[in-house]
Amino acid sequence: MTIQSETKHTKTTYSDEAARSYRTCTSCKQRPKTMLLLPCSHLAACEQCVADLSCCPMCSRTISCVIRTFII
Ligand SMILES: [Zn+2]
Ligand SMILES: [Zn+2]
Repeated sequence: MTIQSETKHTKTTYSDEAARSYRTCTSCKQRPKTMLLLPCSHLAACEQCVADLSCCPMCSRTISCVIRTFII
């Protein structure tokens, strides 16, 4: 039995940074956005931050419902 360990080196490029910020929670800027806000349909916050939000940080519409999404 062979166990292989793989080390990945990730380079930070401009496009990586842009993609990262696009996917990162607008509130904490650390965790990925996973919560879809309704009725505006903005994917704007992570699960932890959405609990503190009463309106969308992207468009300021009042949040009536949130949907948890899974991005693979
Ligand atoms: Zn957050
Ligand atoms: Zn919104």
